Amino acid sequence: MLKDPITCPFCGGNLLQALEPSELGIDQSIWTILHWQCIECGETFDKIIEETYSDEFYEDDEGTNLGTDN
Ligand SMILES: [Zn+2]
Repeated sequence: MLKDPITCPFCGGNLLQALEPSELGIDQSIWTILHWQCIECGETFDKIIEETYSDEFYEDDEGTNLGTDN
């Protein structure tokens, strides 16, 4: 389960375009900031995913690579 279905908070539409995500590393956390643009109403919004990891708990085993660059 990689991504929850995301709907536009402005109009409730689900025609969204994912923009290039940002990542912030803060101490033991990585904040992945996903940027979305709603195709229906044109609004943009962010979704922040905070991942806390430690040496023995770090799961990032899915095939999707958010990448840092294109
Ligand atoms: Zn919208």
